[in-house]
Amino acid sequence: MSDDKKSLKDIDELKKETMLEHANRLDEEDRARREAEKDMDMDIFDGVRSSDGNPVQPVKIKSTDNFCFNCHKGVSCWNVCCHGADITLTPFDIIRLSKNLTIKPAEFLQLFTIPAMWHGADMPVAKLRMSGKDGKGACVFMDEEEGCTVYEDRPVNCRYYPLGMAAVRMKGAEGPEDFFFLVKEDHCQGHEEPKDQSVGDFRKEQGVEAYDEQNRGWVEILMKMSSWKVMGGPNGTVVPDKTKQMFFMATTDVEMFRKFVFESKFLTTYLIDPELVEELRTDDELLLKLGFDWMKNVLSNDPTIKLRQEVLNDAIGKARVDHPRGAG
Ligand code: SF4
Ligand code: SF4
Repeated sequence: MSDDKKSLKDIDELKKETMLEHANRLDEEDRARREAEKDMDMDIFDGVRSSDGNPVQPVKIKSTDNFCFNCHKGVSCWNVCCHGADITLTPFDIIRLSKNLTIKPAEFLQLFTIPAMWHGADMPVAKLRMSGKDGKGACVFMDEEEGCTVYEDRPVNCRYYPLGMAAVRMKGAEGPEDFFFLVKEDHCQGHEEPKDQSVGDFRKEQGVEAYDEQNRGWVEILMKMSSWKVMGGPNGTVVPDKTKQMFFMATTDVEMFRKFVFESKFLTTYLIDPELVEELRTDDELLLKLGFDWMKNVLSNDPTIKLRQEVLNDAIGKARVDHPRGAG
């Protein structure tokens, strides 16, 4: 049996347990988690790129607020912020950068990233590799003369700088809301440039809106996992390493995830619209969304993906045999 099939079997076991035996407990825990999540904010892009000085306290701003900033080849600090930068790559960054370099995501991950855990959520992510033994050297994509060699597909974290982005779930709101903050680091002369713009205009100019849209599900998972962590993990248990590995696969390597979907029991386990199945063969963005939906379901039992009826019936039948009524 392949590892993929084994992993899927493990998920089935997890689902049976969560569906049939602990529904009430989950409801209670989910309510408690939602309480813990209220008003919790989480940095998504921290807006600090090279902490060689003490950044001025970030200022929280709305998308309609204006700020003065411009970055261009003529600034005295050209490329300084592309050294020793701490850049978490989002799932959509990896798709865009792999395509830019015409390599597979697996190769991209191996050559240009280092694995890391997302602060707060304890979930695995990939960070952009910086050169030098201490990781304080130039970004692997930086050319001293030309600047960023992948500019058209640069990561969203690079696009946002010097803004940070965070999400917060407000009381009574269904989903998290985004807000922004401006970070002024000592080395960055861009703040002295006379270009006044709103946050909204800056985001448009930097092309971050498409990235935010594509990465939304990933951000929601990380935010939820951060709030679960306060309670010791989803459903009161620590996320198993195998589940973390699957999260990493689904959120960093779209080709590996496609292989998993089409070559494991995934499609005979989950109910996916046949038209969508065909699109998933070639559409990376739809596949990414499926990965987010699947992980939301696996990690916190969200109703984002459905089991096939026959799989559900089998699970119920097996649970009745294993735990007959009145057996205590
Ligand atoms: S990807 Fe480009 S913009 Fe981002 S740190 Fe590297 S060189 Fe700089
Ligand atoms: S102005 Fe700021 S963002 Fe632009 S190169 Fe200089 S340090 Fe980097």
